[in-house]
Amino acid sequence: MHPVFAPTRPGALADRDDFPILGRQIRDGKSLVYLDSAATSQKPWAVLDAERDFYLLHNAAAHRGAHQLAEEATELYEEARGAVAHFIGGHDREVVFTRSATEAINLVAYAMSNTAALGDTRSPFHIGPGDEILVTQMEHHANLVPWQQLALRTGATLRWVPVTPDGRLDESAFDALLTGRTRLLAVTHQSNVLGTINPITDLTRKAHAAGALVLVDGAQSVAHQPVDMAALGADFFVFSAHKMLGPNGIGVLWGRRHLLEQMPPVMTGGSMIETVRMDHTTFLPPPQRFEAGVPMAPQATGLAAAISYLTALGMASVHQYEAALTTLALERLTALDGVRIIGPRDGHQRGATLSFTVDGIHPHDVGQVLDDRGIAVRTGHHCARPLCERFGIPASIRASFYVYNTTDEIDELADGITQAQRFFA
Ligand code: PMP
Repeated sequence: MHPVFAPTRPGALADRDDFPILGRQIRDGKSLVYLDSAATSQKPWAVLDAERDFYLLHNAAAHRGAHQLAEEATELYEEARGAVAHFIGGHDREVVFTRSATEAINLVAYAMSNTAALGDTRSPFHIGPGDEILVTQMEHHANLVPWQQLALRTGATLRWVPVTPDGRLDESAFDALLTGRTRLLAVTHQSNVLGTINPITDLTRKAHAAGALVLVDGAQSVAHQPVDMAALGADFFVFSAHKMLGPNGIGVLWGRRHLLEQMPPVMTGGSMIETVRMDHTTFLPPPQRFEAGVPMAPQATGLAAAISYLTALGMASVHQYEAALTTLALERLTALDGVRIIGPRDGHQRGATLSFTVDGIHPHDVGQVLDDRGIAVRTGHHCARPLCERFGIPASIRASFYVYNTTDEIDELADGITQAQRFFA
């Protein structure tokens, strides 16, 4: 055994020994309590092995080369696409591999401004002055800044739906802000700060009735609950592999096939072309049209392994397990004097991400006391600064739970907060 690893505690939904890093000793021999999975998840051996095996046995440029290794790499890459499609209830040809959720959102935003630049006014992606883009006050910067920039490039107007004091979307404001001018609704499925799960099916139905396209940011949902593209009804759904036990450097844009077919390319170059002449080029159909360059086959293979791992746990069980952890954490934290939960205080329609502040102590100081005990949480604005402003706080502490966390770890979090309160009293 590596000297920094030790046997891990039992009692999570997943077998903790599948995750080697959880056995790490940190801060002078303390056991790691990893409560930062909303930022990035830890990886099981199955994912590490899948990626390593790709390099050990099959390494070649997928979709290029006439040799056996290239064939195998292509097969693994396309199998991974199939696994993603199956996992989210979509079709293979609707799954575009991107570098991340961030890149997937930017891809749609740039496709829209490319449409405007090409002057294609009949395209479903056309946007210009007088048109509106509707977002919410609870978006991660990744689902806000690209739309601000699109508005700047095209002359469209950005509007946003406010958040209620208990951390839910203000649905009556949504109804008022959604009009015939709305070209696109961009909304998160689950807030990375509040934990709130938004009623996407409802929002999508209303947005479609108003004639708007809908992009859903699934970065915080797809890893934690069953998702089904048909049930959600959105036009685009994006996520990153690294938050769902998979590798860094790969994400997904799911898009309705007929829309992807009408979407102009954004990144151009190799792998996405049909024929190239010196003066013009024709492009491959989706998804290849949006995957310029040598494909991320090793990462896709790792993502497929993560999906197998989650599927074996069962996404309904994952959701249920996390709901139990969240209910316990809410109970433990609300029982502490001076702890203020930012977001829903009950388990209804919320995920396993819990943000809070502690009266009289800066979130960074709380984070430091927790870190000294080996507890990893995130402190700051969590890439959602306007949301922090909404709640009148410069920052918060965020604990987020996943399939490898235990109830003991929630006790340790509560004890750590109490220690911070004593220390700074
Ligand atoms: N949206 C949400 C809700 C997120 O939590 C994150 C990651 N923190 C992103 C988008 C962006 O994900 P990535 O950095 O992997 O592109």
